[in-house]
Amino acid sequence: MREDTIFGKIIRREIPADIVYEDDVCLAFRDVTPQAPTHVLVIPKKPIPKLADATAEDKELLGHLLLTVKQVAEQLGIAPEGYRVVINTGSNGGQTVFHLHLHLLGGRSLQWPPG
Ligand code: AMP
Repeated sequence: MREDTIFGKIIRREIPADIVYEDDVCLAFRDVTPQAPTHVLVIPKKPIPKLADATAEDKELLGHLLLTVKQVAEQLGIAPEGYRVVINTGSNGGQTVFHLHLHLLGGRSLQWPPG
């Protein structure tokens, strides 16, 4: 199924991205507007627009995305100091790209609560 978000274009290599990890079901690349020294987005290749659209059928995929975040954090050296994983969902959640993605943020101390 084709989709026309910017992340779909990255999956199809129609636009460039700084890809740090890829497997059969997901892709991880650096955010173009980083909010921390390390800011990576992990996305499924399946075009789920947002977390609210995921179903029980996506259970394994969602687990895979979380374990991929953990693996990429280790790969990029931010795991020992800690990091944050964020999923913005829908307009009140601050989502701007409607292809499910997990933000991996690290490399500095992060504040809480978010704005
Ligand atoms: P969200 O606001 O949660 O939907 O996050 C979307 C994220 O995608 C933002 O952090 C953007 O900086 C990032 N982004 C948008 N376009 C690109 C791109 N072409 N390459 C990498 N990251 C992007």
